[in-house]
Amino acid sequence: MYRALYRKWRPQSFDEVCGQEHITTVLKNQVLSSTVSHAYLFCGTHGTGKTTCAKILAKAVNCENPIDGSPCGKCSSCVAIDNGTATDVLEIDAASNNGVDSIRAIRDEVVYPPSTLKKRVYIVDEVHMLTDSANNALLKTLEEPPEYVMFVLATTELQKIPSTIISRCQRFEFRRIDGEVIGNRVKHVCDEEGINIDEESVNLIARLSDGAMRDALSLLESCTAALGGDRIEYEATERQLGVANNEDVVSLLKYAAEGNVSEAMNVLDGLYRNSRDLATLVGQLNFLTRDLLVIQSLPGIGLNKLGSSFCFSKSMFEELNVLAKEITKEQLLYFFEVLSEAQSRLGYSAQNKKMIAEMAVIKLSTPRFVDGIEALQARVSALEAGVPVKAAKPAAPKVAESKKVEEKTADVKAAPQASKPFSNRAELLEALSRKGAGAVYAFASTANFVMKDGVLCIVPDSDIAEDKLSTPKAIELITECAGEVMRTAISVQIEKAPKTEVQTNMFFEELF
Ligand SMILES: [Zn+2]
Repeated sequence: MYRALYRKWRPQSFDEVCGQEHITTVLKNQVLSSTVSHAYLFCGTHGTGKTTCAKILAKAVNCENPIDGSPCGKCSSCVAIDNGTATDVLEIDAASNNGVDSIRAIRDEVVYPPSTLKKRVYIVDEVHMLTDSANNALLKTLEEPPEYVMFVLATTELQKIPSTIISRCQRFEFRRIDGEVIGNRVKHVCDEEGINIDEESVNLIARLSDGAMRDALSLLESCTAALGGDRIEYEATERQLGVANNEDVVSLLKYAAEGNVSEAMNVLDGLYRNSRDLATLVGQLNFLTRDLLVIQSLPGIGLNKLGSSFCFSKSMFEELNVLAKEITKEQLLYFFEVLSEAQSRLGYSAQNKKMIAEMAVIKLSTPRFVDGIEALQARVSALEAGVPVKAAKPAAPKVAESKKVEEKTADVKAAPQASKPFSNRAELLEALSRKGAGAVYAFASTANFVMKDGVLCIVPDSDIAEDKLSTPKAIELITECAGEVMRTAISVQIEKAPKTEVQTNMFFEELF
């Protein structure tokens, strides 16, 4: 019968459990010295070994010939528990429908000693899901359990467990497992299974599993299933796991830092069309932000010391070093804010993934329309460093230079001589946002507004903004809002988006 890798490679002794030595050593010693408690509470994120340790413990206390505190795996007790035929070891999933009934049944059962084993062990998973009445029932049995009964409660959410229960258990906190430990385990499993896997794939799997061994082995499994088994190479792994490659992630971040919304959106769109997972992508961008901050804070740090969860090539690392000099720390901190927020939104919204990712990319590229201190700091520091400008320009262009810009603008703006700034910009934007026109508002708020011969001309700052604002529906909406704000009918015209240099100039004008 086929067994999933994580089941097949589930550790059978305390020594095989990876990354939780602070727990397994204690349990081992308790078994050795026969000082096991009557109730344990295992808490920690999923996939970190709670159920695995509970099962090993259940076997160890019942084993006929325990070896160094761990079960032998060969005696009749061990075999019966492994096969699931031992009626004295009960696994209850508190999240399931009959979980509550099973808990109530415990109260009646505990008066009878175990039928074949030394101890009857109740393993209750997801114990935070119990109802109040089930908690009360459990509490009664936890208070004074007979010698031959042991409880192992497991939960991912300790804060939801009543303190009355917590105080009656010995508590162990399972940690997220270190990436290196996970990587070594993945390599070990591959060796044993005869799978040829490259180092980069191992690192990628370790990174994506985020400290959960079960996830790592499931990811490995999905690769072996899709890629035909015995040979796993990085590019295919990347594709299979829906991960964007480093080059794309770096270029997206770079475009965003330059304020080049349309190119950044292009990269995002390309990744989306190649069915890359956008939640993973936002996570990758956040990791990259972290790496750039580390490189900035510790100049001269080596690739091996970076402790990055990426697997960068040497040339890529050099590129990052250059990038770290071009982006300011405030900008990176702002990126971190935006990306973290998007990440948590993506966590609980399965539907609007693309929209959330797009909004994040637009926010990254245009800190000027986002409120908040991080955005403001990012804008100020970008100005000081001249970052969004490829060739750094002084904040206030000299007369000669601004003339040059005007000349360039001439072919874009139709009649510059009759234009003057639109003074009701803020009210108009507010009206748009009141109407719930999210996208129109977002793109309008980065555009320049001028009045020309009684016509409100809106100059978008990018091709993509131009597209979005030029739709009949958007123009109608803006016209309506402009009419409301000016208290008179006014016609609206969307201009062509200027080229980058003009855009930069507008960026400065707006700030000063
Ligand atoms: Zn045994």
